[in-house]
Amino acid sequence: MYGYKCEYCDGVVKEKLVKKEVFKHKTGFIMLENVPVGVCNKCGYRYYHSTILQRVEEIADGKRLPERTEIIPVAQLG
Ligand SMILES: [Zn+2]
Repeated sequence: MYGYKCEYCDGVVKEKLVKKEVFKHKTGFIMLENVPVGVCNKCGYRYYHSTILQRVEEIADGKRLPERTEIIPVAQLG
């Protein structure tokens, strides 16, 4: 899935399995679990494979149901 050259430096994008990753979409946020994320070994830039972004879109559009819904605490500063 990953292993290509970074777009921003001469590092290599390595796959890293992330337990929880939050994605922003048009109307809110979706959290995916056990996501294979691409991380540059030099600058640390994160890359997401198109299949991951597709999954986020599907859930956002209601085409696919999430496994469960978690309530995220929200706080305001000031
Ligand atoms: Zn890089």
